[in-house]
Amino acid sequence: MRATGGIYIEISGKRLYLDPGPGALVHSRQNNIPIETLDAILLSHVHQDHANDINTMIDAWSEGGKNIKGTLIGSISAIDGFEDIEKIVLDYHKNHVRQIITMDDNDKTDIGPVHITATKTQHSDPKGIGFTIKGEKTVSYIGDSCYFEGLEDYHKDSDILIVNNIFPKERTDADKRINYHMDTYGTLKLLNKINPELVILQHFAPTILAIGPETEARWLEEQTGIKVRAAKDFEIFEF
Ligand SMILES: [Zn+2]
Repeated sequence: MRATGGIYIEISGKRLYLDPGPGALVHSRQNNIPIETLDAILLSHVHQDHANDINTMIDAWSEGGKNIKGTLIGSISAIDGFEDIEKIVLDYHKNHVRQIITMDDNDKTDIGPVHITATKTQHSDPKGIGFTIKGEKTVSYIGDSCYFEGLEDYHKDSDILIVNNIFPKERTDADKRINYHMDTYGTLKLLNKINPELVILQHFAPTILAIGPETEARWLEEQTGIKVRAAKDFEIFEF
């Protein structure tokens, strides 16, 4: 119902690609995203809707392994697997990136002037993470997670906050059976404790699409006074 290709970020002269889900390669080509010159690809967790295209993206990035470059940053689950969770990055493609960094909560790394910190999540991938990406501005990505006490501590410095706001305020019974995901009330709890310049909602389930994510975004704006937008497919935000 919506594109699932992830998020492309240009910050402080660096090019990052976050969570290359199904369609990432095709949508990147169609939207002129320069895969060959990416500095890093970031994987928040192992689930297909976030990581399905990682191997094809590495193939394009490395030009079939002929021009190895860049840094792959990812959760332990996505890179190495964890307990009964199979890794998603194939060994063949691991050999086609210059550097691989696995991250757990609070781990930090730099891509040139861009400081990246892994943030805690509560999700069905127990090793899933979010990211804060600090350059000239701080972009914070919660990843797949429900709200939990202390989530705000990880994202309090964000200028742009990207929230996987899957469910609306009023969850259906079917929605309620799916745990560890953010709904609009969870986002409200978070926004009551932090103050970003802009909040971008994305990653919508059919129930929130039926209501209209823009309606939920407006409600959050009214409650908090913070600017909240519901992302459209291929939308570009300047910051
Ligand atoms: Zn997930």
